[in-house]
Amino acid sequence: MKVVVIGAGVVGSLVARELVRHDFDVTIVERMPDPGMGVTRANSAIVHAGYDDPPGTLRAELCAMGNSLFQNVCEELGVEFKRTGSLVVAFNDEEKKRLDRLVKQGEKNGVPNLKLVERNELLTMEPHLNPGAVAALFAPTAGITEPWMLAISAVENAIKNGAKFLPETEVIGFETKGGRVRKVITNSNSIEADIVINAAGLFADEIAELAGVEHPPIHPRKGEYILLDKAVGRIVQRVIFPTPSEKSKGVLVLPTVDGGTLLGPNAVDLPREHKNDLRTTVEGINEVREKALLLVPDLPIHKTIRTFAGLRPETPQKDFYITAEMKPWGFINLGGMRSPGLTASPAIARYVVEYLIEEKFGIKLQKNEKFDPVNNRINHPTAGSVEKWDRLIDEDPSWGRIVCACNEVTEAEIREAIKKGARTLDGVKFRTRAMFGRCQGGFCTFRIMKILSEQLGVPIEEVKKSVDGSWVLDGHVRSDNT
Ligand SMILES: Cc1cc2nc3c(=O)[nH]c(=O)nc-3n(C[C@H](O)[C@H](O)[C@H](O)COP(=O)(O)OP(=O)(O)OC[C@H]3O[C@@H](n4cnc5c(N)ncnc54)[C@H](O)[C@@H]3O)c2cc1C
Repeated sequence: MKVVVIGAGVVGSLVARELVRHDFDVTIVERMPDPGMGVTRANSAIVHAGYDDPPGTLRAELCAMGNSLFQNVCEELGVEFKRTGSLVVAFNDEEKKRLDRLVKQGEKNGVPNLKLVERNELLTMEPHLNPGAVAALFAPTAGITEPWMLAISAVENAIKNGAKFLPETEVIGFETKGGRVRKVITNSNSIEADIVINAAGLFADEIAELAGVEHPPIHPRKGEYILLDKAVGRIVQRVIFPTPSEKSKGVLVLPTVDGGTLLGPNAVDLPREHKNDLRTTVEGINEVREKALLLVPDLPIHKTIRTFAGLRPETPQKDFYITAEMKPWGFINLGGMRSPGLTASPAIARYVVEYLIEEKFGIKLQKNEKFDPVNNRINHPTAGSVEKWDRLIDEDPSWGRIVCACNEVTEAEIREAIKKGARTLDGVKFRTRAMFGRCQGGFCTFRIMKILSEQLGVPIEEVKKSVDGSWVLDGHVRSDNT
Protein backbone atom coordinates (compact mmCIF):
# COMPACT_ATOMS: atom_id res chain seq x y z
CA MET A 1 0.00 0.00 0.00
CA LYS A 2 1.41 3.38 -1.07
CA VAL A 3 1.49 6.19 1.48
CA VAL A 4 2.59 9.75 0.74
CA VAL A 5 3.52 11.93 3.72
CA ILE A 6 3.40 15.65 2.94
CA GLY A 7 5.83 17.58 5.13
CA ALA A 8 8.98 16.44 6.93
CA GLY A 9 8.56 18.39 10.14
CA VAL A 10 8.79 16.47 13.37
CA VAL A 11 5.22 15.20 12.90
CA GLY A 12 5.50 13.96 9.29
CA SER A 13 8.98 12.51 9.87
CA LEU A 14 7.98 10.45 12.89
CA VAL A 15 4.79 9.31 11.15
CA ALA A 16 6.88 8.17 8.16
CA ARG A 17 9.23 6.27 10.49
CA GLU A 18 6.27 4.63 12.22
CA LEU A 19 4.85 3.60 8.83
CA VAL A 20 8.06 1.79 7.79
CA ARG A 21 7.76 -0.46 10.85
CA HIS A 22 5.02 -1.98 8.69
CA ASP A 23 4.79 -3.07 5.13
CA PHE A 24 3.94 0.32 3.55
CA ASP A 25 5.57 1.90 0.50
CA VAL A 26 6.32 5.35 1.93
CA THR A 27 7.26 8.57 0.13
CA ILE A 28 7.96 11.76 2.08
CA VAL A 29 7.53 14.99 0.12
CA GLU A 30 9.14 18.13 1.55
CA ARG A 31 9.44 21.48 -0.14
CA MET A 32 12.49 22.57 1.87
CA PRO A 33 15.97 21.12 1.20
CA ASP A 34 15.98 19.33 4.58
CA PRO A 35 13.60 17.85 7.15
CA GLY A 36 12.68 19.94 10.18
CA MET A 37 13.02 23.38 8.58
CA GLY A 38 9.42 24.58 9.13
CA VAL A 39 7.77 25.13 12.53
CA THR A 40 10.03 22.38 13.90
CA ARG A 41 13.12 24.53 13.40
CA ALA A 42 12.22 27.40 15.74
CA ASN A 43 10.38 26.65 18.97
CA SER A 44 11.12 26.24 22.69
CA ALA A 45 12.25 22.60 22.25
CA ILE A 46 10.50 21.53 25.45
CA VAL A 47 9.14 18.07 26.02
CA HIS A 48 6.18 19.15 28.13
CA ALA A 49 5.05 17.14 31.12
CA GLY A 50 1.38 17.41 30.04
CA TYR A 51 -0.53 19.44 32.68
CA ASP A 52 -1.37 22.41 30.40
CA ASP A 53 -4.16 21.03 28.26
CA PRO A 54 -7.76 20.36 29.25
CA PRO A 55 -8.46 16.67 29.98
CA GLY A 56 -10.29 14.91 27.19
CA THR A 57 -8.57 16.82 24.38
CA LEU A 58 -6.22 15.18 21.89
CA ARG A 59 -3.54 17.63 22.98
CA ALA A 60 -3.74 16.40 26.58
CA GLU A 61 -3.85 12.71 25.66
CA LEU A 62 -1.09 12.79 23.03
CA CYS A 63 1.18 15.11 25.03
CA ALA A 64 1.24 12.84 28.08
CA MET A 65 1.75 9.77 25.88
CA GLY A 66 4.40 11.54 23.77
CA ASN A 67 6.33 12.50 26.88
CA SER A 68 6.46 8.87 28.00
CA LEU A 69 7.72 7.73 24.56
CA PHE A 70 10.28 10.49 24.10
CA GLN A 71 13.30 9.01 25.81
CA ASN A 72 13.17 5.78 23.85
CA VAL A 73 12.66 7.52 20.48
CA CYS A 74 15.60 9.84 21.16
CA GLU A 75 17.86 6.97 22.22
CA GLU A 76 17.04 5.04 19.05
CA LEU A 77 17.53 8.06 16.82
CA GLY A 78 20.66 9.49 18.50
CA VAL A 79 18.87 12.72 19.46
CA GLU A 80 19.61 14.61 22.66
CA PHE A 81 16.92 14.64 25.33
CA LYS A 82 17.44 15.79 28.90
CA ARG A 83 14.75 15.33 31.51
CA THR A 84 15.48 18.58 33.33
CA GLY A 85 12.04 19.02 34.89
CA SER A 86 10.06 22.27 34.72
CA LEU A 87 8.79 24.86 37.20
CA VAL A 88 5.71 27.06 36.77
CA VAL A 89 6.33 29.99 39.06
CA ALA A 90 3.66 31.95 40.97
CA PHE A 91 4.31 35.45 42.26
CA ASN A 92 1.10 35.95 44.30
CA ASP A 93 -1.75 34.04 45.90
CA GLU A 94 -3.98 34.36 42.84
CA GLU A 95 -1.31 32.71 40.67
CA LYS A 96 -0.72 30.08 43.36
CA LYS A 97 -4.39 29.10 43.16
CA ARG A 98 -3.95 28.62 39.41
CA LEU A 99 -1.08 26.22 40.15
CA ASP A 100 -3.48 24.10 42.22
CA ARG A 101 -5.77 23.93 39.21
CA LEU A 102 -2.84 22.90 36.97
CA VAL A 103 -1.91 20.09 39.38
CA LYS A 104 -5.47 18.73 39.28
CA GLN A 105 -5.55 19.03 35.49
CA GLY A 106 -2.17 17.30 35.19
CA GLU A 107 -3.27 14.45 37.43
CA LYS A 108 -6.38 13.93 35.29
CA ASN A 109 -4.10 13.84 32.23
CA GLY A 110 -2.01 11.12 33.88
CA VAL A 111 1.11 13.24 34.51
CA PRO A 112 3.22 11.58 37.23
CA ASN A 113 4.93 13.16 40.27
CA LEU A 114 3.61 16.72 40.04
CA LYS A 115 4.44 18.64 43.17
CA LEU A 116 3.93 22.15 44.58
CA VAL A 117 7.13 23.61 46.02
CA GLU A 118 7.19 26.54 48.41
CA ARG A 119 9.46 29.57 48.17
CA ASN A 120 12.46 28.33 50.20
CA GLU A 121 12.74 25.01 48.41
CA LEU A 122 12.17 26.74 45.09
CA LEU A 123 15.00 29.23 45.62
CA THR A 124 17.32 26.38 46.63
CA MET A 125 16.42 24.55 43.42
CA GLU A 126 16.89 27.69 41.27
CA PRO A 127 19.01 30.30 43.11
CA HIS A 128 18.82 32.85 40.26
CA LEU A 129 15.03 32.97 40.31
CA ASN A 130 13.30 36.24 41.26
CA PRO A 131 13.11 36.13 45.09
CA GLY A 132 9.58 37.56 44.81
CA ALA A 133 8.37 34.07 43.77
CA VAL A 134 6.00 32.51 46.32
CA ALA A 135 5.66 28.93 45.01
CA ALA A 136 5.96 26.77 41.91
CA LEU A 137 4.56 23.68 40.27
CA PHE A 138 7.42 21.22 39.76
CA ALA A 139 6.99 18.70 36.94
CA PRO A 140 10.00 16.34 36.99
CA THR A 141 9.07 14.59 33.73
CA ALA A 142 9.44 17.69 31.52
CA GLY A 143 12.59 17.91 29.43
CA ILE A 144 14.46 19.60 26.60
CA THR A 145 15.51 18.29 23.20
CA GLU A 146 16.62 19.26 19.66
CA PRO A 147 13.45 19.12 17.51
CA TRP A 148 15.09 19.64 14.09
CA MET A 149 17.49 16.75 14.76
CA LEU A 150 14.56 14.53 15.68
CA ALA A 151 12.98 15.24 12.28
CA ILE A 152 16.28 14.80 10.38
CA SER A 153 17.13 11.58 12.17
CA ALA A 154 13.61 10.15 11.80
CA VAL A 155 13.76 10.75 8.04
CA GLU A 156 17.24 9.20 7.82
CA ASN A 157 15.91 6.19 9.71
CA ALA A 158 12.80 5.97 7.53
CA ILE A 159 15.02 6.02 4.43
CA LYS A 160 17.20 3.27 5.93
CA ASN A 161 14.02 1.21 6.31
CA GLY A 162 12.85 1.73 2.75
CA ALA A 163 11.10 5.13 2.55
CA LYS A 164 11.80 7.60 -0.27
CA PHE A 165 12.51 11.22 0.63
CA LEU A 166 11.88 13.96 -1.95
CA PRO A 167 13.35 17.26 -0.70
CA GLU A 168 12.77 20.58 -2.54
CA THR A 169 9.53 19.11 -3.88
CA GLU A 170 6.30 21.03 -3.40
CA VAL A 171 2.84 19.48 -3.42
CA ILE A 172 0.63 21.53 -5.73
CA GLY A 173 -2.46 19.33 -6.20
CA PHE A 174 -4.11 15.91 -6.12
CA GLU A 175 -5.74 13.57 -8.60
CA THR A 176 -8.85 11.92 -7.16
CA LYS A 177 -10.98 9.18 -8.75
CA GLY A 178 -13.83 7.07 -7.41
CA GLY A 179 -13.88 8.94 -4.09
CA ARG A 180 -10.20 8.24 -3.38
CA VAL A 181 -6.96 10.18 -3.82
CA ARG A 182 -4.99 8.45 -6.57
CA LYS A 183 -2.04 10.76 -7.11
CA VAL A 184 -0.20 13.55 -5.34
CA ILE A 185 0.92 16.16 -7.86
CA THR A 186 4.14 18.01 -7.11
CA ASN A 187 6.07 20.73 -8.92
CA SER A 188 8.31 18.05 -10.44
CA ASN A 189 6.35 14.78 -10.70
CA SER A 190 3.22 12.94 -9.67
CA ILE A 191 3.26 10.16 -7.08
CA GLU A 192 0.75 7.34 -6.84
CA ALA A 193 -0.93 7.17 -3.45
CA ASP A 194 -3.49 5.05 -1.60
CA ILE A 195 -3.18 7.07 1.59
CA VAL A 196 -2.10 10.71 1.92
CA ILE A 197 -0.92 12.21 5.20
CA ASN A 198 -1.16 15.96 5.39
CA ALA A 199 1.54 17.02 7.87
CA ALA A 200 2.27 20.37 6.21
CA GLY A 201 2.43 22.45 9.39
CA LEU A 202 1.41 26.07 8.78
CA PHE A 203 0.20 25.09 5.30
CA ALA A 204 -1.92 22.06 6.26
CA ASP A 205 -5.13 24.07 5.62
CA GLU A 206 -3.98 24.93 2.09
CA ILE A 207 -3.02 21.31 1.33
CA ALA A 208 -6.43 20.12 2.56
CA GLU A 209 -8.11 22.72 0.36
CA LEU A 210 -6.21 21.35 -2.68
CA ALA A 211 -7.72 17.93 -1.94
CA GLY A 212 -11.21 19.37 -1.42
CA VAL A 213 -11.10 18.50 2.27
CA GLU A 214 -12.30 20.75 5.09
CA HIS A 215 -9.71 22.15 7.47
CA PRO A 216 -10.02 25.12 9.84
CA PRO A 217 -8.04 28.15 8.65
CA ILE A 218 -4.52 28.38 10.07
CA HIS A 219 -3.05 31.72 11.04
CA PRO A 220 0.50 32.18 12.31
CA ARG A 221 1.15 33.26 15.89
CA LYS A 222 4.68 34.54 16.09
CA GLY A 223 6.98 33.74 19.00
CA GLU A 224 10.29 35.60 19.28
CA TYR A 225 13.37 34.37 21.13
CA ILE A 226 16.72 35.48 22.51
CA LEU A 227 19.56 32.94 22.70
CA LEU A 228 22.36 33.54 25.22
CA ASP A 229 25.90 32.28 24.82
CA LYS A 230 27.03 29.05 26.49
CA ALA A 231 29.59 31.14 28.41
CA VAL A 232 26.69 32.25 30.65
CA GLY A 233 26.74 28.74 32.14
CA ARG A 234 23.73 27.00 33.64
CA ILE A 235 21.92 30.05 35.05
CA VAL A 236 18.78 27.91 35.32
CA GLN A 237 18.76 24.12 35.68
CA ARG A 238 15.17 23.57 34.63
CA VAL A 239 12.56 25.02 32.27
CA ILE A 240 11.12 28.07 34.08
CA PHE A 241 7.58 29.17 33.13
CA PRO A 242 5.53 32.04 34.52
CA THR A 243 1.95 31.13 35.47
CA PRO A 244 0.26 30.70 32.04
CA SER A 245 -2.42 32.93 30.50
CA GLU A 246 -5.32 31.87 28.27
CA LYS A 247 -3.30 32.77 25.16
CA SER A 248 0.08 31.21 25.83
CA LYS A 249 2.41 29.57 28.29
CA GLY A 250 4.22 32.91 28.60
CA VAL A 251 7.84 33.94 28.20
CA LEU A 252 10.17 31.30 29.62
CA VAL A 253 13.78 30.94 30.62
CA LEU A 254 15.28 27.54 29.88
CA PRO A 255 18.54 25.71 29.25
CA THR A 256 19.21 24.34 25.76
CA VAL A 257 20.60 20.82 25.26
CA ASP A 258 23.97 22.18 24.14
CA GLY A 259 24.49 24.44 27.16
CA GLY A 260 22.99 27.76 26.05
CA THR A 261 20.11 29.66 27.65
CA LEU A 262 16.93 30.45 25.72
CA LEU A 263 14.46 33.26 26.52
CA GLY A 264 11.01 33.50 24.94
CA PRO A 265 8.62 33.24 23.20
CA ASN A 266 6.15 36.10 23.10
CA ALA A 267 2.87 35.58 21.20
CA VAL A 268 1.87 37.93 18.35
CA ASP A 269 -1.04 37.00 16.08
CA LEU A 270 -0.37 37.63 12.38
CA PRO A 271 -2.73 37.61 9.39
CA ARG A 272 -3.11 34.34 7.51
CA GLU A 273 -0.98 35.51 4.60
CA HIS A 274 2.07 36.02 6.87
CA LYS A 275 3.01 32.34 7.14
CA ASN A 276 6.59 33.03 6.10
CA ASP A 277 7.12 36.09 8.27
CA LEU A 278 10.00 35.06 10.52
CA ARG A 279 11.28 38.60 11.17
CA THR A 280 12.07 39.62 14.71
CA THR A 281 11.01 43.09 15.84
CA VAL A 282 12.51 45.53 18.33
CA GLU A 283 9.22 45.57 20.28
CA GLY A 284 9.04 41.78 20.36
CA ILE A 285 12.60 41.29 21.54
CA ASN A 286 12.19 43.99 24.18
CA GLU A 287 9.04 42.25 25.42
CA VAL A 288 10.90 38.93 25.68
CA ARG A 289 13.81 40.57 27.50
CA GLU A 290 11.57 42.36 30.03
CA LYS A 291 9.41 39.32 30.77
CA ALA A 292 12.42 36.98 31.08
CA LEU A 293 14.05 39.41 33.54
CA LEU A 294 10.92 39.23 35.71
CA LEU A 295 11.60 35.50 36.15
CA VAL A 296 15.40 35.64 36.41
CA PRO A 297 16.54 39.21 37.19
CA ASP A 298 20.29 38.70 36.75
CA LEU A 299 20.17 37.25 33.22
CA PRO A 300 23.24 38.56 31.34
CA ILE A 301 21.28 39.84 28.34
CA HIS A 302 24.48 41.35 26.86
CA LYS A 303 25.57 37.75 26.14
CA THR A 304 22.92 37.45 23.42
CA ILE A 305 24.26 35.60 20.37
CA ARG A 306 21.07 35.38 18.32
CA THR A 307 17.46 36.44 18.13
CA PHE A 308 14.97 34.49 16.02
CA ALA A 309 11.25 33.81 15.59
CA GLY A 310 8.98 30.81 15.09
CA LEU A 311 5.36 30.64 13.94
CA ARG A 312 2.69 28.59 15.71
CA PRO A 313 0.02 27.13 13.37
CA GLU A 314 -3.10 28.41 15.18
CA THR A 315 -6.67 27.41 14.38
CA PRO A 316 -9.90 28.73 15.95
CA GLN A 317 -10.22 25.33 17.68
CA LYS A 318 -7.66 24.98 20.43
CA ASP A 319 -7.13 21.25 19.86
CA PHE A 320 -4.98 19.50 17.25
CA TYR A 321 -6.97 18.94 14.06
CA ILE A 322 -6.49 15.22 13.36
CA THR A 323 -8.95 13.56 11.01
CA ALA A 324 -9.22 10.44 8.84
CA GLU A 325 -11.32 11.48 5.84
CA MET A 326 -13.73 9.18 4.04
CA LYS A 327 -14.21 11.69 1.17
CA PRO A 328 -11.78 11.36 -0.44
CA TRP A 329 -11.06 8.10 1.33
CA GLY A 330 -7.52 7.78 2.69
CA PHE A 331 -6.75 11.45 3.36
CA ILE A 332 -5.42 12.15 6.87
CA ASN A 333 -5.12 15.67 8.33
CA LEU A 334 -2.52 16.34 11.00
CA GLY A 335 -3.19 20.06 11.36
CA GLY A 336 -3.25 22.74 14.04
CA MET A 337 0.04 21.42 15.39
CA ARG A 338 0.71 24.16 17.88
CA SER A 339 2.43 23.37 21.18
CA PRO A 340 2.72 20.62 22.44
CA GLY A 341 3.04 19.20 18.92
CA LEU A 342 6.71 18.40 19.36
CA THR A 343 6.11 16.53 22.62
CA ALA A 344 3.13 14.71 21.16
CA SER A 345 4.84 13.77 17.88
CA PRO A 346 5.91 10.20 18.82
CA ALA A 347 2.37 9.56 20.10
CA ILE A 348 0.78 11.15 17.00
CA ALA A 349 2.85 8.77 14.87
CA ARG A 350 1.41 5.75 16.70
CA TYR A 351 -2.11 7.21 16.69
CA VAL A 352 -1.98 7.60 12.90
CA VAL A 353 -0.79 4.07 12.19
CA GLU A 354 -2.54 2.07 14.91
CA TYR A 355 -5.80 4.01 15.14
CA LEU A 356 -6.47 6.00 11.96
CA ILE A 357 -4.99 3.61 9.40
CA GLU A 358 -5.67 0.28 11.11
CA GLU A 359 -8.97 0.96 12.87
CA LYS A 360 -10.61 3.79 10.91
CA PHE A 361 -9.51 2.72 7.43
CA GLY A 362 -9.58 -0.98 8.34
CA ILE A 363 -6.15 -1.79 6.93
CA LYS A 364 -4.46 -4.83 8.40
CA LEU A 365 -0.94 -3.93 9.51
CA GLN A 366 1.83 -6.22 8.27
CA LYS A 367 5.04 -6.03 10.28
CA ASN A 368 8.26 -5.10 8.49
CA GLU A 369 10.48 -7.83 9.92
CA LYS A 370 13.63 -6.04 8.77
CA PHE A 371 12.80 -2.75 10.56
CA ASP A 372 15.90 -1.33 12.26
CA PRO A 373 15.00 1.44 14.75
CA VAL A 374 18.52 2.81 15.15
CA ASN A 375 20.01 5.85 13.45
CA ASN A 376 23.56 6.71 14.38
CA ARG A 377 24.37 10.34 14.99
CA ILE A 378 27.46 11.82 13.37
CA ASN A 379 30.44 11.15 15.61
CA HIS A 380 31.48 14.31 17.54
CA PRO A 381 35.01 13.34 18.60
CA THR A 382 35.81 16.39 20.76
CA ALA A 383 33.08 15.24 23.15
CA GLY A 384 34.84 11.89 23.71
CA SER A 385 38.28 10.78 24.91
CA VAL A 386 41.49 12.16 23.41
CA GLU A 387 42.73 8.59 22.70
CA LYS A 388 39.64 7.80 20.64
CA TRP A 389 39.95 11.08 18.80
CA ASP A 390 43.63 10.37 18.09
CA ARG A 391 42.72 7.03 16.54
CA LEU A 392 40.20 8.72 14.25
CA ILE A 393 42.79 11.28 13.15
CA ASP A 394 45.22 8.46 12.34
CA GLU A 395 42.59 6.99 10.01
CA ASP A 396 41.59 10.34 8.45
CA PRO A 397 43.33 13.63 9.31
CA SER A 398 40.16 15.63 8.60
CA TRP A 399 38.88 14.46 12.04
CA GLY A 400 41.64 16.65 13.43
CA ARG A 401 40.80 19.83 11.50
CA ILE A 402 38.46 22.00 13.60
CA VAL A 403 36.27 24.12 11.30
CA CYS A 404 33.75 25.56 13.80
CA ALA A 405 35.86 26.71 16.75
CA CYS A 406 32.87 27.69 18.93
CA ASN A 407 31.33 24.20 18.96
CA GLU A 408 34.55 22.34 18.05
CA VAL A 409 33.16 20.76 14.89
CA THR A 410 35.68 19.01 12.67
CA GLU A 411 35.93 18.94 8.89
CA ALA A 412 35.15 15.20 8.94
CA GLU A 413 31.82 15.85 10.72
CA ILE A 414 30.86 18.34 8.03
CA ARG A 415 31.72 15.85 5.30
CA GLU A 416 29.66 13.19 7.13
CA ALA A 417 26.68 15.59 7.27
CA ILE A 418 26.89 16.13 3.51
CA LYS A 419 27.07 12.36 2.95
CA LYS A 420 23.93 12.02 5.10
CA GLY A 421 22.03 14.48 2.90
CA ALA A 422 22.96 18.07 3.84
CA ARG A 423 22.93 20.22 0.71
CA THR A 424 22.94 23.68 2.28
CA LEU A 425 24.63 25.60 5.10
CA ASP A 426 21.56 25.04 7.28
CA GLY A 427 21.66 21.33 6.47
CA VAL A 428 25.21 21.23 7.88
CA LYS A 429 24.36 23.54 10.79
CA PHE A 430 21.39 21.57 12.08
CA ARG A 431 23.19 18.22 11.75
CA THR A 432 26.55 19.18 13.28
CA ARG A 433 26.00 22.41 15.33
CA ALA A 434 28.69 24.14 13.27
CA MET A 435 27.67 27.86 13.02
CA PHE A 436 25.41 27.34 16.08
CA GLY A 437 27.88 28.79 18.61
CA ARG A 438 29.02 32.20 19.76
CA CYS A 439 30.19 33.55 16.38
CA GLN A 440 27.06 32.21 14.63
CA GLY A 441 29.14 31.28 11.59
CA GLY A 442 31.09 34.55 11.45
CA PHE A 443 34.41 32.67 11.28
CA CYS A 444 33.53 29.29 9.74
CA THR A 445 30.79 29.89 7.15
CA PHE A 446 33.20 30.37 4.26
CA ARG A 447 35.19 27.22 5.10
CA ILE A 448 31.96 25.23 5.27
CA MET A 449 30.87 26.67 1.92
CA LYS A 450 34.15 25.51 0.40
CA ILE A 451 33.60 21.97 1.74
CA LEU A 452 30.01 21.95 0.45
CA SER A 453 31.15 23.21 -2.95
CA GLU A 454 33.90 20.61 -3.20
CA GLN A 455 31.86 17.67 -1.98
CA LEU A 456 28.69 18.50 -3.96
CA GLY A 457 30.70 19.42 -7.06
CA VAL A 458 29.06 22.84 -7.48
CA PRO A 459 30.66 26.29 -7.83
CA ILE A 460 30.94 28.04 -4.47
CA GLU A 461 28.54 30.81 -5.61
CA GLU A 462 25.84 28.15 -5.85
CA VAL A 463 26.10 27.09 -2.21
CA LYS A 464 22.91 28.25 -0.47
CA LYS A 465 22.00 29.01 3.11
CA SER A 466 18.73 27.09 2.78
CA VAL A 467 15.98 27.55 0.15
CA ASP A 468 16.40 28.64 -3.45
CA GLY A 469 17.49 32.24 -3.65
CA SER A 470 19.24 32.23 -0.27
CA TRP A 471 22.62 32.78 -1.90
CA VAL A 472 25.52 33.83 0.28
CA LEU A 473 27.86 34.99 -2.50
CA ASP A 474 26.62 37.20 -5.29
CA GLY A 475 29.46 36.60 -7.78
CA HIS A 476 33.12 37.51 -8.30
CA VAL A 477 34.39 41.01 -7.54
CA ARG A 478 37.78 40.38 -9.25
CA SER A 479 38.83 37.96 -11.95
CA ASP A 480 41.48 35.39 -11.02
CA ASN A 481 44.35 37.12 -12.85
CA THR A 482 44.06 40.62 -11.28
C1 LIG B 1 7.09 29.57 19.13
C2 LIG B 1 6.78 28.11 19.25
C3 LIG B 1 7.10 27.41 20.42
C4 LIG B 1 6.79 26.06 20.55
N1 LIG B 1 7.24 25.38 21.62
C5 LIG B 1 7.00 24.06 21.72
C6 LIG B 1 7.53 23.31 22.81
O1 LIG B 1 8.33 23.81 23.60
N2 LIG B 1 7.15 22.01 22.93
C7 LIG B 1 6.30 21.42 22.06
O2 LIG B 1 5.95 20.27 22.26
N3 LIG B 1 5.85 22.07 20.97
C8 LIG B 1 6.20 23.38 20.77
N4 LIG B 1 5.78 24.06 19.68
C9 LIG B 1 4.99 23.35 18.67
C10 LIG B 1 5.87 22.50 17.77
O3 LIG B 1 7.00 23.23 17.34
C11 LIG B 1 5.05 22.09 16.54
O4 LIG B 1 3.87 21.45 17.01
C12 LIG B 1 5.77 21.13 15.61
O5 LIG B 1 7.06 21.56 15.30
C13 LIG B 1 4.93 21.02 14.34
O6 LIG B 1 5.57 20.16 13.47
P1 LIG B 1 4.92 19.84 12.06
O7 LIG B 1 5.68 18.70 11.53
O8 LIG B 1 3.45 19.73 12.20
O9 LIG B 1 5.14 21.17 11.21
P2 LIG B 1 6.42 21.68 10.41
O10 LIG B 1 7.66 21.49 11.18
O11 LIG B 1 6.12 23.06 9.93
O12 LIG B 1 6.50 20.70 9.17
C14 LIG B 1 5.66 20.84 8.06
C15 LIG B 1 6.50 20.69 6.82
O13 LIG B 1 5.65 20.70 5.69
C16 LIG B 1 6.35 21.31 4.63
N5 LIG B 1 5.40 21.75 3.62
C17 LIG B 1 4.48 22.74 3.74
N6 LIG B 1 3.78 22.88 2.59
C18 LIG B 1 4.28 21.93 1.74
C19 LIG B 1 3.98 21.58 0.39
N7 LIG B 1 3.03 22.21 -0.32
N8 LIG B 1 4.70 20.59 -0.19
C20 LIG B 1 5.66 19.93 0.51
N9 LIG B 1 5.99 20.24 1.78
C21 LIG B 1 5.30 21.22 2.39
C22 LIG B 1 7.08 22.44 5.32
O14 LIG B 1 8.18 22.91 4.55
C23 LIG B 1 7.48 21.83 6.65
O15 LIG B 1 8.79 21.33 6.65
C24 LIG B 1 6.11 25.41 19.49
C25 LIG B 1 5.82 26.09 18.31
C26 LIG B 1 6.22 27.41 18.18
C27 LIG B 1 6.04 28.09 16.86
